[in-house]
Amino acid sequence: MPETFTSATNGPDDDAPFRSRLSFDLDVDICVVGAGLAGLTVALEAARLGASVAVLEGRHVGWNASGHQLGTVMPGYSLPIGDLIERVGLEDARELWAMSKEGADYVRAAATEEAMPGITLTEGALEVSTVDAGETLISRLQTLSEDFETEVEGWQVDRVRGELGTARYFHGIYYPRAFQIDGRKYIHGLATQARRAGARIFEDTPVVSIDSSGIRKRIVTPSARLRASHIVLAGNVHLGAPLRRLSETLLPVWRYAAVTEPLGERLGEVIAFKGSVADSDGIDHFRIVDGDRLMWASPETTWEARPRRFGPVVQRRIATIFPQLGKVPISDVFGGAVGVTVHGMPQIGQLRKGLWVASGFGRQGLNTSAMAGQVIARSILWGEERWKLFSPFELVWAGGATGRVAGHLIGLWGRGHSAAAGALARYREGARAREHVREARLAEANRQAGTGLPRRPPAGPRPVRPQPPRPVEMQDGGAPVVPSQESERIRDGSV
Ligand SMILES: Cc1cc2nc3c(=O)[nH]c(=O)nc-3n(C[C@H](O)[C@H](O)[C@H](O)COP(=O)(O)OP(=O)(O)OC[C@H]3O[C@@H](n4cnc5c(N)ncnc54)[C@H](O)[C@@H]3O)c2cc1C
Repeated sequence: MPETFTSATNGPDDDAPFRSRLSFDLDVDICVVGAGLAGLTVALEAARLGASVAVLEGRHVGWNASGHQLGTVMPGYSLPIGDLIERVGLEDARELWAMSKEGADYVRAAATEEAMPGITLTEGALEVSTVDAGETLISRLQTLSEDFETEVEGWQVDRVRGELGTARYFHGIYYPRAFQIDGRKYIHGLATQARRAGARIFEDTPVVSIDSSGIRKRIVTPSARLRASHIVLAGNVHLGAPLRRLSETLLPVWRYAAVTEPLGERLGEVIAFKGSVADSDGIDHFRIVDGDRLMWASPETTWEARPRRFGPVVQRRIATIFPQLGKVPISDVFGGAVGVTVHGMPQIGQLRKGLWVASGFGRQGLNTSAMAGQVIARSILWGEERWKLFSPFELVWAGGATGRVAGHLIGLWGRGHSAAAGALARYREGARAREHVREARLAEANRQAGTGLPRRPPAGPRPVRPQPPRPVEMQDGGAPVVPSQESERIRDGSV
């Protein structure tokens, strides 16, 4: 089959309805900057509660990450649950977690076939471990189900491998209430619903400056001015000029994904699981779409690059995890920039009276942006104060250009470390299996000799002992040294 890497740029989607540029001055209750998942959910909820809302989008609806994601909806945040408890204590962590579940419920309620035709909701997500970490898994399962009232199942290695034909994965946590949707349909569905609720959406309308000092705030675009009682900044990493200091609290991470050509029945023979799969290191995330295609996200950069470059990278990654599939033909490659905060939690709340922020959702933005939209709309219109639960997670400068370099190196190190830890876990597993065979042979030899004493195994050529993989070390300059075979691919971002 020929290889084609299409959709190389994040161009406008064919099904995106035309929305005009703002060319006249306007007075509204709420001005939302950015028509991604966060901005559109705020707009929809605020319009439903009766506010007059204008959404100003510099490019077009879903232009960035929101229109180029995998559509997996899970509870939680980018920050691991253990770290969340450590940071705010069990009680607040439980409340924050419950809010993240509400976000997932919000998406489920909105993403119906009637409201968003073709949204294709499917159930269940599996988080798999790349190392043999049964103990950790049991404690996480307990935390999730007992303390955080989340439906989860622990899957043993055999079950995981029965569903996913690879020796790369060990145990798994199955979330039966997680689900996936068509991500592009969802963002356009949100825009349609917001418009129906009365929000006005203006594309090709970048906000170049804001003055948030007075009761009526001023917003300037190249072709018009707005006045609003509230401004919601939902521009993510591209916010730029209106509040550059806010943009600088986010580390931009471009994440790329590819969709394969139809792979036929062989895909189902290798991957029986129908939901989303994500590894516990946050590196690979994939699911089957359209019955026999794989959609797979993995490569990341801290600078903007053309998604097309990453088709072969994803191709190699799939072949590494599922060698049976070989070199799969890729039909589509896409990507977007996610905003990563220093603490791993989203930025949700009021910066000063009437100036709100909803950004920094990282790699898990569907449930969290939905929750943020609802929380902010209700805070503005009902005076709710739940956003204050996010106050411990302050706006911390992400380090500018140096932060990006550091972020890149940390990402490389994390991937190298994960590859090495995975290889070590698989080596240990192999060694254990070989030890069992050796013990069984010894027992059999003793039985035949009729003695209870251990006997030396029969003489013969000694089997070659496989060597464990070398661990990841840090070089003097801080760059990671990784096991040789993986290192080439890590350097080109493919692992
Ligand atoms: C490949 C990939 C896969 C992903 N998969 C998943 C997944 O399966 N599940 C999940 O939960 N999350 C996933 N994510 C993460 C999720 O997509 C993001 O967290 C989420 O989309 C962020 O939404 P947002 O509204 O904050 O930002 P954005 O999508 O970046 O939207 C912000 C918008 O604001 C506009 N803007 C910025 N500045 C201005 C300005 N000054 N004036 C006017 N407009 C402005 C931008 O043009 C942009 O359209 C994935 C991300 C990627 C890249």
